[in-house]
Amino acid sequence: MGRKARSRDESRVARRESRERAFRARLLRWFRRHGRDLPWRLTRDPYQVLVSEVMLQQTQVSRVAEYYPRFLSAFPTLRHLAQAPARAVREEWDGLGYYRRAANLHALARRVVEDHDGIIPRDRQTLRSLPGIGRYTAGAVMSFAYEQAEPAVDTNVGRVIRRAFHPRARKDARGEQKIWETAERLLPAAGPRAWTFNQAIMELGALVCTSREARCGMCPVAPLCSTGRRIG
Ligand code: SF4
Repeated sequence: MGRKARSRDESRVARRESRERAFRARLLRWFRRHGRDLPWRLTRDPYQVLVSEVMLQQTQVSRVAEYYPRFLSAFPTLRHLAQAPARAVREEWDGLGYYRRAANLHALARRVVEDHDGIIPRDRQTLRSLPGIGRYTAGAVMSFAYEQAEPAVDTNVGRVIRRAFHPRARKDARGEQKIWETAERLLPAAGPRAWTFNQAIMELGALVCTSREARCGMCPVAPLCSTGRRIG
């Protein structure tokens, strides 16, 4: 690569980094004022975090907020869940739908007791070998329970990053990979700040940049967003 091309490349990376820094700062500021006090945001207990994450797949926040404390009072720890009969787990899950999630959670609890001494693993590879744990849930447990600087791209986060940074990315594996890479670059290096960032970007996708409507007029990152700038 010639000198000119190298310097063009460096200034492109510098511009990208400065935009990502500004995006992060604006989002964190907004979340401090507007983030909701959801019950699973008050805990770092890996079991409780995992239960909330599994419930939040395909179920609305308001419904999960109702079932989450009930489920935890029926099965306060991973060992309680592992020892429970399938029928009891099903009963507590009734009303949340997609029962397969509860069956996976139950199988996971048993596996963790058997193979990991009852301690939910903290590394991506082991987490992903457990029943029902995909790329997102592994990242969510690592970030929300263990406060590791790990991206967690669910539907909300993916939508925000796509609209903000990659509006033309295809909806295929390569496009998804691009979004995960941006999520990783956006993440603060310190685990507790990464926890807040992951919660914040999820919240933006749930409250402002929703699937039904992009409310760019009230969005804190609009000046830095490819879609928001176009609309605004
Ligand atoms: S500016 Fe609009 S499109 Fe961009 S993140 Fe905000 S709400 Fe979404």
